[in-house]
Amino acid sequence: MAHMDEIFGSNVFNDAVMQQHLPKDTYKALKKTIDEGRHLDPQVAAVVAHAMKDWAAEKGVTHFTHWFQPMTGITAEKHDSFLNPQPGGKMILSFSGKELVRGEPDASSFPSGGLRSTFEARGYTAWDPTSYAFIKDNVLCIPTAFCSYGGEALDQKTPLLRSMETLSKQAVRVLHLFGRMDSVRVTPTVGPEQEYFLIDRELYEKRRDLIFTGRTLYGAKPPKGQELEDHYFGAIKPRIQAFMSELDEELWKLGVAAKTEHNEVAPAQHELAPVFTITNVAADHNQLTMEMMKKVAQRHGLVCLLHEKPFAGVNGSGKHNNWSMVTNTGYNLLDPSDTPYESSQFLLFLTAVIKAVDDYQDLLRVSVASAGNDHRLGANEAPPAIISMFVGEELGEILDAIESGSAYMGHEHSDMTVGVHVLPKFPKDNTDRNRTSPFAFTGNKFEFRSLGSSASISETNVVINTIVAESLRQFADELEAAPDFKTALHELIVREIRAHKRIIFNGNGYSEEWVKEAEKRGLLNLHSTVDALPYMVSEKNIKLFTTHKVYSETEIRSRYEIKLEEYAKVLNIEAETALMMAQREILPAAMKYSAAVASQLKALKDASSAVSTSAEEKLLAKLSCNVSLLSDRIDELQAAIVNTNHEADAKEAAVYEHDVIIPAMNAVRVVADELETQVGRSYWPFPTYADLLFNV
Ligand code: ADP
Ligand code: MG
Repeated sequence: MAHMDEIFGSNVFNDAVMQQHLPKDTYKALKKTIDEGRHLDPQVAAVVAHAMKDWAAEKGVTHFTHWFQPMTGITAEKHDSFLNPQPGGKMILSFSGKELVRGEPDASSFPSGGLRSTFEARGYTAWDPTSYAFIKDNVLCIPTAFCSYGGEALDQKTPLLRSMETLSKQAVRVLHLFGRMDSVRVTPTVGPEQEYFLIDRELYEKRRDLIFTGRTLYGAKPPKGQELEDHYFGAIKPRIQAFMSELDEELWKLGVAAKTEHNEVAPAQHELAPVFTITNVAADHNQLTMEMMKKVAQRHGLVCLLHEKPFAGVNGSGKHNNWSMVTNTGYNLLDPSDTPYESSQFLLFLTAVIKAVDDYQDLLRVSVASAGNDHRLGANEAPPAIISMFVGEELGEILDAIESGSAYMGHEHSDMTVGVHVLPKFPKDNTDRNRTSPFAFTGNKFEFRSLGSSASISETNVVINTIVAESLRQFADELEAAPDFKTALHELIVREIRAHKRIIFNGNGYSEEWVKEAEKRGLLNLHSTVDALPYMVSEKNIKLFTTHKVYSETEIRSRYEIKLEEYAKVLNIEAETALMMAQREILPAAMKYSAAVASQLKALKDASSAVSTSAEEKLLAKLSCNVSLLSDRIDELQAAIVNTNHEADAKEAAVYEHDVIIPAMNAVRVVADELETQVGRSYWPFPTYADLLFNV
């Protein structure tokens, strides 16, 4: 294997490559566009396109694509060739500035939540020069945003870029109040840790639920999971190891600084952590990571499952969104400093995040809501559906002291006036961690742990950026108008901590007591996607997004529709698959086994009246009881599916799936899983949990 620094970024048109391939002036102009968000001159674009094409062609690339993220949550691409036929039958390779900066994909097959019927039918893609172009599968990929001609965002990236813009603007206002006039831009940074499962491809192919829905709809818990894990782990290592080094290498080529690791939480589950980067690039990279995981797994006879809950009763998969803000001068705004003045600046930004999370718990919950993630959130697994924050003991004590105006224990000064005293160094190590908290301060960043493993990180970061921008906007308005900055700053921080400390919880987020306590504190506990989604279109939240020009009202409403529709679609597919498997695989297998037991019983009875047949009789009774129960429940599920009202609006349809279809599916599953423990192994129609989880 080649060394990391040789292959890292080898397929990326990155800064070093640009410097090498672009004329000095062009490079400078492009750099300005990238660093300062300046408008790109068409002539510069033409030179850049030409250089990109030459660089790609040298690597044997003949096609390019505008690579974008429609609202399906995954990426889309449409390949075009560099080939340009010339008179006389000649061919030349060309790539124009226009082709680089703008594309017109056929948008009709992407969800738009009704946007395209009210606006322009077609959409266009626009180059995002802050995310480097790269070569994937021998195609030059240009990261782009996707909009309608009416200017409405049709993708995940456009609102993300807008939210980064508003956060920057408000954060810079605050920094200027602290005299940091050299700060002209603030960029949110993200490092998303990605969890996933790897299972054997042959076994996967025997399970229609995995093929159609990405998760198992049936499966009794394996006996003694831990023991089996110890037993089998040694054997799986070489294959997984090979997968991981190849995945790392593929991602490094694309400029994704990834490190794959074993994750001991669940058998067959693993984790990948990339080095953090600016948010839109992190979002692009996370999409590439998920795509590569699936591809590389195939090459090793494996399948990568990105579903939030592939196996009931086994820990699910999430994504940890590590988030912070960095200035153009390279200063991390969530890094506690040891000089007093900077400390108060840190405290103000910290307070802004605390206020944001408290004021917009609903939006954070909405941003992670999906049919798949409903299996994790609120299901006695990390993290709970109640959004709360963990700040650690030390920082918690400091906030308490500031708020009450009392002495901070463990610190000799008794006066906790903000901006007067040096804050102690906070421990940044991992011991001071609360793994049950959805939103945890981890030393110099926040870690939002509620995201589902298959989700795009864009939507969540749109929310985080915008809600923090809103806190900062309010703070800046107040402080800019204050006659005395220091006094006003102190008063503001004390007041805001008092107002929002209910969101801080350092205890066990899984406990029953916390559910009760959270209710007392007035925190939201939105169990499911259908409970959460309506908050998306509340007056307060529409006002937030429109004020910051992140979404127009039409855009929010269309996204609301899309999310509801997607929820109903996912459940509908699950229900159809569950029905098919129960009807055509499980019930026939159980019947066949019953018949075998019955004929065995008959044979024994015929042979001799003296022989005991109590075992056969008992088993047969159990089987026939469950077979008839299963048959009834299959009928009920079928009726529930048939009764689906296809004329219902998106919300009604989603509620129906949640209230009627899910319980009907669960009722079938309970009996099917019990039958799995009763029916002879060779009769069972597909691989069991033990096969899938321990047989890689
Ligand atoms: P853990 O598993 O304990 O949460 P990891 O080291 O696996 O910790 O992951 C931490 C993640 O946080 C990495 O992706 C890292 O790049 C990211 N990270 C570190 N600093 C920042 C920051 N300032 N902004 C955003 N993400 C960060
Ligand atoms: Mg983590």
